[in-house]
Amino acid sequence: MPKNLLAPNVLLVFPRFNPNSFWSLAPVCEAWGARCPAPPLGLITLAAMLPPGWDVRLINRNSEELTPADLGWADLVMTGGMLPQQDDTLALIELAHAHAKPVVVGGPAATSSPEVYCGADFLVLGEAEVVIQDFIKAWSAGTDRGVFEAPKFTVDVTTTPIPRFDLLKFEHYLYIGVQFSRGCPFNCEFCDIIELYGRVPRAKSNVQMLAEIDALYAAGYRGHVDFVDDNLIGNKKALKRFLPELSAWQRAHGYPFEFSTEASMNLADDRELLMMLREANFFAIFVGIESPDPETLVATQKKQNTRRSLADSVHRIYAAGMYVIAGFIVGFDTERSAVADAMIDCIEATGIPVAMVGLLTALPNTQLTRRLAREGRLLPFKAGGGDQCTSGLNFIPLRPRSDVLADFRTILASIYDPAAYFARVRRLGRALDRPRLPSRIDWKVVAKELRAVARILWVMSVKRPDLRRHFWTTIVDCLRYQPRNFEAVLAMSVMYLHLGAFAKVLIAGLDQQIAELDTAPAQELPLLPAA
Ligand code: SF4
Repeated sequence: MPKNLLAPNVLLVFPRFNPNSFWSLAPVCEAWGARCPAPPLGLITLAAMLPPGWDVRLINRNSEELTPADLGWADLVMTGGMLPQQDDTLALIELAHAHAKPVVVGGPAATSSPEVYCGADFLVLGEAEVVIQDFIKAWSAGTDRGVFEAPKFTVDVTTTPIPRFDLLKFEHYLYIGVQFSRGCPFNCEFCDIIELYGRVPRAKSNVQMLAEIDALYAAGYRGHVDFVDDNLIGNKKALKRFLPELSAWQRAHGYPFEFSTEASMNLADDRELLMMLREANFFAIFVGIESPDPETLVATQKKQNTRRSLADSVHRIYAAGMYVIAGFIVGFDTERSAVADAMIDCIEATGIPVAMVGLLTALPNTQLTRRLAREGRLLPFKAGGGDQCTSGLNFIPLRPRSDVLADFRTILASIYDPAAYFARVRRLGRALDRPRLPSRIDWKVVAKELRAVARILWVMSVKRPDLRRHFWTTIVDCLRYQPRNFEAVLAMSVMYLHLGAFAKVLIAGLDQQIAELDTAPAQELPLLPAA
């Protein structure tokens, strides 16, 4: 038996994200001195599941080049990712085959649409913890093709190993991800998370999670850590058991980490949980608000966002010391023509600077996709087109398509006007109540932050004279009224470097699309051209 079957060199390759994405954040990374937002948590967790004799290297194509020498070293290439990485994943399969290397593809995109990746030699579908052992056995026995599918929603995440943080070059990233739980108890019609991970959230144990945090600390990382859970508060009981221990860990280590995550809006109703997150040093929460229209929220099965003032809920989170980044969607069946004004009002009333407004997208394998297919309204999904901002509305909407796109355009033009954006940052800067925590000074971190601040001040003052007045008015306002919020205000200001430019590109694409619709008003039109 050839040696490489028993101890192969494994090259993990994280595919490039489509740059036409809300989350590509290239100018933001540059300003902070990073190369890309986050490392591939899935691949470094997978690396920890491979046998100890297998030699593993990681190449992240978003931050470094994949060279012929890397491929020459490898006996096996393992890759996979999310939908906006589909084009590069397919390119990687071809590239590896051109070097006569077998390829394994896994991850959420392959799990949702395995047929797209049928060119790979092996598919590992679903959560890898159990099924990867079947692949390892097959590989070691000399098998050269196969599909290994995990049973759905049953993986016990308390058996998940600590990710191989040692494979990462921390200086390449804005933040590092960890995961506490998988799954979400809600049932939003458009969501693929519940199709991939189920509606009964499964959480890691406290000991296990603190061991991960310890490992990250021991590897030398300090700073922003994102809990990548799709809804961190999905299992509140488990989270409330964990957070006091996380706070104690943070206190004992001088608060080396600051955390962000995603959570559902019912977080705002639980003061005890908000205070626990505050004490653990959570500073940012992504919340899916989706629509200001209660009828739309009910129709899309997002009832947790109804029967509440969205502005009050968001301000309760600000008062607990965390700023909110929110997702909004245009294109629901129940939407009326007033949606643009209502959404703009909602974003202004909540004072959310970073609002990810996208078009409704029928993702593969969701309740929405199944319904639209039954209704004969589904159009092809173009994963390579970017994200829901650039390639959404892949179905025949009930309102005229040009009206939906015009509303999307109106919202983008309003909320990403620099005066409106920085005014929201100022309101956030006054509303946020960041805690005073007894952080230990780490001079290496301070030096890195000072370099980043100097770079940002130069970019916002010299390189972007168009933003200079908005930026300095905002910084002065923050220093005058709530200097403790300087870091948050600076972070939100820097985000405009990407969002302002991205909105302009989107608007140009929408203008072109709307003009084409005006001259040929057919419903089955190509998707929004790549921005
Ligand atoms: S709350 Fe978020 S993760 Fe949960 S079902 Fe809805 S969209 Fe999906």
